[in-house]
Amino acid sequence: MQVSTDFPGGGADNLRIDGDTVSFEAPAKGCPQPMWFAFRLLGAAGRRVTGRLTNGRACLGGGQLGVAQPVYRDGAGAWHRVMPQRCSYDAASGVLTFWFTPTSDETTVASIFPYQLADLDAFRRKLPADRARWRVLGESPHGRPIAMLEVGDPERRGEVVWVTARHHAGEVQGSYVIEGLVSRVLSAPWLLAGRTFCCLPIMDVDAVEEGSYGKDQAPIDFNRDWSESPHHPAVRMVQRELAASAASGTLTLFLDLHGPAPGDPSFFLPSRRWTCDDAYAQRCFALIDHVARDWDGLAQGDYPRQALRWAEDNAEMVSAAAVELAHGVPALTLEVAYHRDHLGRLQTPEGWRGIGRRLAEGYHRWRLSGEASGRVRALPELPRPAAWFCQSLPQQVAISDDGADLVLTSTAAPARARLQLREFQSGPRRLTWQSSGKATARLSLYRYGPAGYRLPGHETVPLAVHAGELRLDPGGRWRCAVLLEAAEAGATWRLRWEETT
Ligand SMILES: [Zn+2]
Repeated sequence: MQVSTDFPGGGADNLRIDGDTVSFEAPAKGCPQPMWFAFRLLGAAGRRVTGRLTNGRACLGGGQLGVAQPVYRDGAGAWHRVMPQRCSYDAASGVLTFWFTPTSDETTVASIFPYQLADLDAFRRKLPADRARWRVLGESPHGRPIAMLEVGDPERRGEVVWVTARHHAGEVQGSYVIEGLVSRVLSAPWLLAGRTFCCLPIMDVDAVEEGSYGKDQAPIDFNRDWSESPHHPAVRMVQRELAASAASGTLTLFLDLHGPAPGDPSFFLPSRRWTCDDAYAQRCFALIDHVARDWDGLAQGDYPRQALRWAEDNAEMVSAAAVELAHGVPALTLEVAYHRDHLGRLQTPEGWRGIGRRLAEGYHRWRLSGEASGRVRALPELPRPAAWFCQSLPQQVAISDDGADLVLTSTAAPARARLQLREFQSGPRRLTWQSSGKATARLSLYRYGPAGYRLPGHETVPLAVHAGELRLDPGGRWRCAVLLEAAEAGATWRLRWEETT
C-alpha cells in the first residue's frame, strides 16, 4: 500500500504507513489551526484500512471531532462517509481513528466531501452558456482563475444578489450550496425575473487546490481582509464587481457561505449592525424566517452567543460586515454544518445543494413580502446605549446612559466591555472620561476610505487612569471604539463624547 497527496486538494503531514494503518496529521500549510486533509491510497483494494488523524488537538474545533466522519471514494466513484460506528475520537490524545475497506487500487480519503476547481468546471460546463455566464475576474497569486457564475440579466439591471463561498478553503459546503442555488434559479423563471445572481463559488482557489484549510493564514485571513486595500486579489476583484453591481442595478443582498466548528449546526449570522439597528435586524431576520420556512435543518434556537465574541478590531473587515458598511445592504454569513444538523441528521452534498434551492426560494418570498419584519433573535442581555454599540457581549459590566455620559460599572472581576461609536465622524471631537477602581481603558481609532471600507490597520491609545481628555481630528471619515477592563467589582467609567470647534 502506498499513499500520495499529489493531486488537487491533497494535503496531509507526517504520513506513516504501518501495515494496514495510515497515520497522518491535518496539514497546517501556514494556518494556526488546520482541519482539512485529503490523501490517496494506492494498492489498498480489499484491505481493512485504518486511518489515524493524530493532531486533532491542534485542529480547529478539535474538541468536537467526535462527530467527524471522514469521506472516501474508490476510483472515480461516489463519495461515502465512513460509518459512525467505524469512527472514534479520543479527545485526550486528539486521535481520530476510522476504518474502511477500499474496493479500488486508488482510493481517496478526505476530511469532508471535496469540491475542487475541476468540480466547479464540470458544473459550469453543464449549464446553459447563454443564461449562466462564466466570468474569469483575474488570476490568483499562484496563477489560477478567480471566476464567478452570473445568472440573469447580463447588464445586471434590477435586483442583484451576491453570494460568495470558500473564503476559508476547507469549508466546502458553500460551493455545493451555490450549485443548488444556481440550478434552482435556472429552473424557475419566476425566481430570475428582474434579478441577477452573482456567485463566486471559490474565493481562495490557491488554498482549495493546494490542500489547505486556509483559515487564519498569514499575513491575513481571507475573511478579515475586506478593507479598503485588500491583500488577497479575489477580495479586491469582488469589491470591484460589487461596486459595478450597485452602479448598474440595486444590490439587495450579500451572502457569504462558511462552515462552523465541526460539531456546530447550520445558522445565519447577520452582519453586526443588527445589534444596534432594529430596522436592519428585522430585515435580516425576515430573510432568515423565509429561508427557514422549508428548511428545518436551520438552527432556530437562541442566537449563538459565541458568534459575537470575535468581533473586535478587525470585525469590520469580515466580508458581510464590510459589504454592509460599504453598500448598506442586508449582508449575512451562513454557516453550513459539516457533519450533522441540529436534528442530528448527517449532511451530504445533495443536502447542501438543497440549502441553495431554499436560499433562492426564501429570497424570493422575502422580496415579495417587502422584507417585512422578521422575528429578531436578539440577545436580551446585550445593552444598547444611545451613541455606542457593544462589539461583543460585555463580561461582568453594567452599561447605562446617563444624560450625555456613558456609564459602565464592573459587577465582578475580571470585567470587560468593548463599545464602538455608532456614527461616523468627520471633524474634531473630544472624549473626556473619569474612572474609579482598578480599571484600565484604551481607545482604537478606525478610518474609512472612499469605497466605504475600513482602511487597514488602526491606532490604539491608552486612556489615562482616573480622568483625562482626548482630542481627535484624524481627518476623513472615522470612528473609534473603547475597550474597558476592570480587575475588581465596583470599578466605574464615565465617558462623554462631544463635538468641538
Ligand atoms: Zn469560515
